[in-house]
Amino acid sequence: MAPKDQQPDTPSHDDHLRDAVALARENARTGGRPYGAVIVRDGVVMARSVNTITRTNDPTDHAEMVAIREVSRALGSPKLEGCIVYASGRPCPMCHAAMRLSGIKQAYFAFSAEEAEGYGLLSAGIYAELCQPLSEQPMRVVHRPVAESDHPYAVWRERQAAAKAGPTS
Ligand SMILES: [Zn+2]
Repeated sequence: MAPKDQQPDTPSHDDHLRDAVALARENARTGGRPYGAVIVRDGVVMARSVNTITRTNDPTDHAEMVAIREVSRALGSPKLEGCIVYASGRPCPMCHAAMRLSGIKQAYFAFSAEEAEGYGLLSAGIYAELCQPLSEQPMRVVHRPVAESDHPYAVWRERQAAAKAGPTS
């Protein structure tokens, strides 16, 4: 039954989650990976996406990433404030970070990372890796400082300040 503050015909969190799961199931049936994602903003469905990596060979084409790209283009903004993500499975660290960076504050998922691991779908291990110091992670990511007099961050900060100050003439 719908909560009192919701119209009976307004899709609920569970309805959107079921939609994401249906997308995942259909994608698996047609040869794709079993993931779907739906993005909703102010009650409007902005994107319904599936994992397309088997078609595009782009390893970043997770359902959530595909949905984020679609919505950011539609909004003409890298900020997806007010958007809610419904993902069939727990967003992997890449998607989680992309959602965070885009200003998304709310997300729901139907299947846990542990549940995925039971089917040989691995991403749960990466969460644990990210908690380790860089030197202990299996991927070698090394900080090698470079002395720069014309630092790109300083260039950026100056441009920001100039833009804030407005035109000088
Ligand atoms: Zn992902």
